[in-house]
Amino acid sequence: MRYLSTRGEAAQLAFDDVLLAGLATDGGLYTPLAYPHVSPGDIAALAGVPYAEAAARLIGPFLTDEAAQTALRAQTEVAYASFRHRAIAPMTQIADNLFVLELFHGPTLAFKDLAMQLLGRMMNDVLEKRNLRATIVGATSGDTGAAAIEAFRGLPRVDVFILYPHGRVSDVQRKQMTTVTEDNVHTIALQGTFDDAQNILKRLFRNRPFRERVGLAGVNSINWARVVAQMVYYFTSGVALGAPHRRISYAVPTGNFGDVLAGYIAKRMGLPVERLIVATNANDILARALATGRYEPRGVTPTQSPSMDIQVSSNFERLLFDATGRDHAALRGAFASLDQSGAFDIPPAALETIRAEFDAQSVGEAQTTAEIARTWREAGYVLDPHTATGVRAARVRLEADPATPVVALSTAHPAKFPDAIERAIGCRPRAPDAIAARLEGPERFTILENDEARVSAFISERARAAQA
Ligand SMILES: *Cc1c(COP(=O)(O)O)cnc(C)c1O
Repeated sequence: MRYLSTRGEAAQLAFDDVLLAGLATDGGLYTPLAYPHVSPGDIAALAGVPYAEAAARLIGPFLTDEAAQTALRAQTEVAYASFRHRAIAPMTQIADNLFVLELFHGPTLAFKDLAMQLLGRMMNDVLEKRNLRATIVGATSGDTGAAAIEAFRGLPRVDVFILYPHGRVSDVQRKQMTTVTEDNVHTIALQGTFDDAQNILKRLFRNRPFRERVGLAGVNSINWARVVAQMVYYFTSGVALGAPHRRISYAVPTGNFGDVLAGYIAKRMGLPVERLIVATNANDILARALATGRYEPRGVTPTQSPSMDIQVSSNFERLLFDATGRDHAALRGAFASLDQSGAFDIPPAALETIRAEFDAQSVGEAQTTAEIARTWREAGYVLDPHTATGVRAARVRLEADPATPVVALSTAHPAKFPDAIERAIGCRPRAPDAIAARLEGPERFTILENDEARVSAFISERARAAQA
């Protein structure tokens, strides 16, 4: 498989190069030339297969060379060995036709581990093979940073720099990033919002001298390898509920649109998905875009689900690319308009295409708290506030279509957000012991102004790739 940029002005690349590049040099996102097809027989054959094996079967066709396909099985095995649940992504039923897919059994208690642990293995192997060193720079609204740090800490060929919005992540999220002791990990508290951090990251990627000096590699949710790793659990959960013989809907707590895009990829590959339901919190750009056709970021409102406090959903670009019939010029126009006037209109035909597969539901703060309380009361099950937005959206869908099962993706363990849980049900959830113990150590981070030059200087001075 080979990959092209949505903006059409960067070279086509192989999987390994897309893995290291993250964002394309033209500012676009890499997307496969075509989606591999999984036959109904091959979907049925996933029943009872261990998660690591299912991942290797489903991801294999996205790789470019055969040696990488052989290495993949070992990479998935190691990546998922650190998970605390043998099923890796188990499911729990909480109401008629409503299932919670638990994606929080990895080392940082959030779903990002499922992709990031595998990405770490893959990147390490490519760098070894090429005898290169790389610098990972990531922007995080909380969970990506911790997941990247867990995936790359101590790796000899990689230095990790994570930018997070100062004062806007939860205590647990921050400590997961700042209590790590390995020298190759650097945490930067940026004086700004997540979108500021993401903007700096995008500019660093467009800064060619910087990119080359430090061997810049991206692991944000725009990295194609992450999207493709997230596709796997749509299949494994679908098969557990009767796919390919039964259609299933998925409700996904959404920020950067990476996770729900993975569901769309699974559908393109042949999984019988009925609806993809985008759940947002008060930061509802996607719900507004689907309702009105206008993609228009507004200021970020802090909520109790901080990993969804995003106004630019970067991966939406990949969906828009397909929905416009892969029209590079339309994409360039839309994103130029976003840069210049702060918005763009989704072409009407593309909007229809998107609406044919996606629903969107914005869930406010009070509704989120009420959903945590309701699920606790009715099912004895504690939802984290991100998951609660998805479960709420799933219930709305079930009112319209009670016959189709809905899988609500649970993106974080409730122990990451104890204040929100206490507000809803009056007691605080406990973190698994191994994780609680690790967060006790001293914290290490650097506060930097919201300024690209300051950030790039900080990284250049410390990245080992720049010292050679
Ligand atoms: C990252 C994250 C999300 C949003 O996922 P996207 O792929 O960015 O849409 C939702 N919930 C939690 C807990 C997260 O960490």
